[in-house]
This record gives sequence, structure tokens and C-alpha cells, in this order.
Amino acid sequence: MATNKTFTMIKPDAVANNSIGGILKMINQAGFRIVAMKYTQLSKETAGKFYEVHAARPFYGELVDYMSSGPIVAAILEKENAVADFRTLIGATDPTKADEGTIRKIYAKSIAANAVHGSDSDENAEIEGNFYFSSLERF
Ligand code: UDP
Ligand code: MG
Repeated sequence: MATNKTFTMIKPDAVANNSIGGILKMINQAGFRIVAMKYTQLSKETAGKFYEVHAARPFYGELVDYMSSGPIVAAILEKENAVADFRTLIGATDPTKADEGTIRKIYAKSIAANAVHGSDSDENAEIEGNFYFSSLERF
């Protein structure tokens, strides 16, 4: 069953760039409500667990190093059709291929440091949200 929630992270490059405010503004203006939010830093171990599905891919080691390199903002977002609409809002993984006006087109530096994470399915949105947030941290 489709749910109305997705999970995002504002990644270390975008936090370091002072882009948290700009990205959250785009998220709110696109109609997403913030259910939960946290400013935190992943250890290599937690980043490795979060991206375990990519463990066999060639960029996994770099991805884990990068995602644990500085603070991030993690959030659960709510909207009708949240997963698909959020993927549209962030744009393609590679910012050079992202549509104009998308978050990655505006804020991403490279395919690795691509400003934001967005869940790719309802199932993963649930798993990823649970990775960071307890039920007491959701509003
Ligand atoms: N990534 C990378 N090189 C690649 C593909 C992906 O460094 O060739 C990184 C990038 O940060 C991406 C993350 O790994 O956001 C997860 O990859 P995925 O294919 O799931 O892309 P996404 O769902 O984030 O668009
Ligand atoms: Mg993905």
C-alpha cells in the first residue's frame, strides 16, 4: 500500500555550503510537511549500515566516507504521493542530468556530493525513517 511519507537527508556538502535554509524552503514550498527532523553526523559505521544496499557498488567506500564527513539534516516528510513527488523535486542522481529548478540542479556539486537523499520506495522510506527516528520524535 502506498503511504504519504518519504525520508530525506541534506548531505554534508549542502550543509557545509549553508544551503540548509534554501533546501528546506524548496521542500516546504513544494507542499511537504516536516514530520521529524534531526541535525546529526553519521559515523562511518552508521553510514555503512544506511547504504548497505549499495555495498557491492564501486562507489560504496567513497559514499560512506563522504556521508560521514560532516553533519547532515535527516527528516521524514509528508505529502500525498511523497516518494515520487520528492524524487521529482530533487532531480536526477547526477546533477548535470537533473532538470532545471530541481534541488540537485541548484545545490549539488557532483554525482557523489549531490546535496540531498530521497527514498526510492514506500518500503525504503519506512526503513530509512525508522533508522533515525523513534515514534516519540514524530509529529
Ligand atoms: N553515488 C555516487 N556515484 C554514483 C552513483 C551514486 O557517488 O555513480 C552516490 C550518490 O551520493 C547517490 C548515492 O550514491 O545519491 C546513492 O545512489 P543511488 O543510485 O541510490 O542514487 P539516488 O537514489 O540518491 O539518486
Ligand atoms: Mg537511492
